[in-house]
Amino acid sequence: MEDTYRFSVTTRVLETGRTELGPWITLEHNIFHPQGGGQPSDTGTVGTAPARPFKDPEAPGHTVRLSCETDATTGDEVTATIDEELRLRHAALHTCGHVVDSFIRQAGFRHRVSNHFPGQARIEFDAGDGKPDLQQLAATIEEQTRKAIAADHKVHADHRGDQRIITIDGIGEDPCGGTHVTSLGRLTGFSLRSIKVKSGVLKVGYAVEHL
Ligand SMILES: [Zn+2]
Repeated sequence: MEDTYRFSVTTRVLETGRTELGPWITLEHNIFHPQGGGQPSDTGTVGTAPARPFKDPEAPGHTVRLSCETDATTGDEVTATIDEELRLRHAALHTCGHVVDSFIRQAGFRHRVSNHFPGQARIEFDAGDGKPDLQQLAATIEEQTRKAIAADHKVHADHRGDQRIITIDGIGEDPCGGTHVTSLGRLTGFSLRSIKVKSGVLKVGYAVEHL
């Protein structure tokens, strides 16, 4: 939550357990981001064992645990490492999603849902009653987003009460628990993949990578 670019941590095992899906462990310091808010989860390892995070709905505060078959037990020191390329790809898609979303909302459309999965990143809006000029809208959004990336606006997170607010300077702010790049200049290869209206929903697909 505090450092997108922290790819490895040496920490202690707090708890171990098992569900019908297999064994899990909980680490004192966790760097794995679980799936949520339209963003897929990190993957990685604890020691040499593959690990994947999940939010435990039974645990207080929905603790993030790691599905992981490891011999490590409570109190053991372990090194947890996440897949760097995947983390950066997710952070780039997610951050760029905020930018595209913000410009489309400014154009008068109400946000419905976001999907930041690689290869299928898409944001959906209420299309409204009118018939939007999609070519014009796409051209505007592409230009605004490219300018924002070129301007290298800073991205930062602040806590207000229980909420984590993500701010992109010059663009806007949103409550969000995802991973983000530290400034838009880290994005590359942005394009709108698709823009269409279907059954009253405006669907905007986009692609971007981390530098
Ligand atoms: Zn976000």
